[in-house]
Amino acid sequence: MRRKIIKFEHIKKFIIILIVLIISGYMIFKYIYNIKEESDIVVAKSLNSQMNQSNTYISKYLDRKIKILDNIGKLLKDKKFKSIEELRTYTSVLTDGNEFQYISMIDSKGYLWMPDNKKIDVRDKEYYVGALMGRVVISSVVDEIKVDYDAISICVPIYDGDKVVGAMFAISDAKDLQKELTTNFNNNLGFCYIIDNKGYVVFRAENQYTDNEFINFYHYMAYNDVNLGNYVENIRTNVAAHNSGVINISNSSGNGYLGYDSISENSNWAIVSYISNDKILEYGKNVSIKSVQMITFIGAMLLFIFAYILKEEIHKKKETEKVYSIDSLTKINNIIGFSLASKKILKKYPHNSYIMILFDIQKFRYINHIYGYSYGDKILISIAKALNKKFNKEQTCARINADNFMILAKYYDEFPKDFEKLLLEVLSVDKKNILSNYKIGFYIIDNKKELIKLMIDKVSYAWKYIKNNPNKNVSFYTEILMNEIMEEEILESDMKKALINNEFQVYMQPKIDLKKGEICGAEALARWISPKMGFMFPDKFIPLFEKNGFIVELDFFILEVMLKKMKALTYDGINNFTVSVNQSRATICDPMYISRLTELINKYEVSPSLIELEVTESIFTVNCDDILKVIAIAKGMGFKISMDDFGSGYSSLNLLKEMPINELKLDRIFLNETSTSTRSKLIIKNIIEMAKALEIEVVCEGVETLEQVDFLKEIHCDMAQGYYFGKPMPMEQFEKILKDQTFSNN
Ligand code: C2E
Ligand code: CA
Ligand code: CA
Repeated sequence: MRRKIIKFEHIKKFIIILIVLIISGYMIFKYIYNIKEESDIVVAKSLNSQMNQSNTYISKYLDRKIKILDNIGKLLKDKKFKSIEELRTYTSVLTDGNEFQYISMIDSKGYLWMPDNKKIDVRDKEYYVGALMGRVVISSVVDEIKVDYDAISICVPIYDGDKVVGAMFAISDAKDLQKELTTNFNNNLGFCYIIDNKGYVVFRAENQYTDNEFINFYHYMAYNDVNLGNYVENIRTNVAAHNSGVINISNSSGNGYLGYDSISENSNWAIVSYISNDKILEYGKNVSIKSVQMITFIGAMLLFIFAYILKEEIHKKKETEKVYSIDSLTKINNIIGFSLASKKILKKYPHNSYIMILFDIQKFRYINHIYGYSYGDKILISIAKALNKKFNKEQTCARINADNFMILAKYYDEFPKDFEKLLLEVLSVDKKNILSNYKIGFYIIDNKKELIKLMIDKVSYAWKYIKNNPNKNVSFYTEILMNEIMEEEILESDMKKALINNEFQVYMQPKIDLKKGEICGAEALARWISPKMGFMFPDKFIPLFEKNGFIVELDFFILEVMLKKMKALTYDGINNFTVSVNQSRATICDPMYISRLTELINKYEVSPSLIELEVTESIFTVNCDDILKVIAIAKGMGFKISMDDFGSGYSSLNLLKEMPINELKLDRIFLNETSTSTRSKLIIKNIIEMAKALEIEVVCEGVETLEQVDFLKEIHCDMAQGYYFGKPMPMEQFEKILKDQTFSNN
């Protein structure tokens, strides 16, 4: 039971830890999932803000350049330069030379002054057309002027009053813008380009994922993926309308956010920037891996703690087991320790044969009473020591309680005999020589897989079986013995109910007056007719009832039945008849015996002289005094007293003189011998003579033959009882015979 509870406790703990692990796993999963969702929002937001920042910077940058160019234009309006050199020198003074890498002018005729002093016609160029219309035109670098770096060109109209009279044209290194863009867009998770209204890349942020190969962003998108191509129109329209936005795009190469925004009204430019979601996922994955590591760690910690607690508990259990399984006096096993050890041994050595032994020492109580408990303890300790010395390896022994010891020993044919010898030797530690008698129960184990509890029960049955038998010291467990004990247990559990349910019946055996040849009495004999066990003779239940004390109740029951019957018979006019009821030693020794007798007599108003109390001979030999007194009182009340089974024990004829008896019942053992021995005939003859002298009547039991009847008549025996005259019979049958005899006499 304890073991089961502990096991359950462990399972409970394990389940709790498992639940904790599952919950924390779920929470971490949820956390990662949230991170991913939140990161999406964060990405979109940061993309927007990056674009805004870049946009502001670029716009300001361009505005400044435009303003400078515009101012120069205003100053140049009325001046006439002979050469580009002249113009250059003039402008460099105005711009300190760093603002533009190249600065020139488009005159009123539409000619751009080239570095080599040539003038080229740019009248149909977009920037010039734009300038003529009063617009500032910014574009990626112009075909006419080759530079080997990312650059932009700015074209600003020169006014004379309301009229455009030319334009300022400058080329600026995009390095600064690029730098700004790169710094702004430094998350390395995507790309950022500045494109013009047709999609041509003006410059790009220099990030890890920047693609330097393509020149037109829209083409690039459309070329890369049909899906992406679908976004192009959307972006182009929005940018043209100076709108900004963020699109969540997904294509074969992954997911991400694409942001777009137009830059300054003058430029027709847009900023497009992209962040890959997969990159974010990669970041998330890192978080997940860390989380999984964390769960594993927590799990491992919990398991470790669990294992530790388990180990502690097992240790504690072992310790407690030790405390609970040791007998405090002798320091060898007690019954718990014995059971545990036996279980282990039987499992560990399956090839050995084993026997279980239970023994106790008769009269051990006296040792304590006479020599004191400490002497008793000393003896128990030395017995335990001797047993422990002998039965340790692959065997075990224990003190079960008081002076009861149990052993699990290796079995061989001679073992029981050897064990008895050993026990005598062990008991010789008692120098006072009281301990010479013992009772040993043996159980030779044939099925090692049997429950230990059952083995202990079996060896206990073997021992109990002889515990109260003075003639036997040793008993072996057998199935027959077990059945007998089981039967007894059934009888014992049923007996009280049986008395209430009238399962006990009285059978009558006639007693014959040998002189008259008539029935002069009868012996009432109990029968148990049980619905469960069937018809039972007294030998089946009387010894058991004598052991457990229930005989007192049965004897009074039979007596009461007979008193009732006698009352009825006297009513019917039958009064020359006595009935014998058997009275056990326990019944007579009952302190209420006399008062119960009195009560019954008063209740039924039957003369006690019609009742003969049969008391077995052996009763008079044991503890004589008190019983004799009780019997004398009963006799004084008017009951007749018969000494039953005379001759079966050791009663001496001399005792008869002192016995308060009316009748002597010769045991049938005499008749068995009479046919052969003239000597026993002589004895019977003498007993009868002696009884007569003492005015004691004599009945002879067990008369079975005519020859025996003749002999009894010859020696003037008064009465006879036996199968020759009639077997014990049911009351009705006997009553009929009795009535027939009475009424035929009259
Ligand atoms: P018991 O008192 O000696 O009773 C006589 C027994 O001898 C009866 O056995 C009876 O059936 C048997 N018997 C009688 N005539 C013959 C014969 O010719 N040959 C042989 N072989 N046997 C004969 P039963 O009825 O089985 O009773 C056995 C014992 O049970 C009785 O022995 C008595 O000691 C006890 N007993 C029976 N009823 C009671 C009772 O109510 N109270 C007590 N205390 N003991 C009872
Ligand atoms: Ca009897
Ligand atoms: Ca008898």
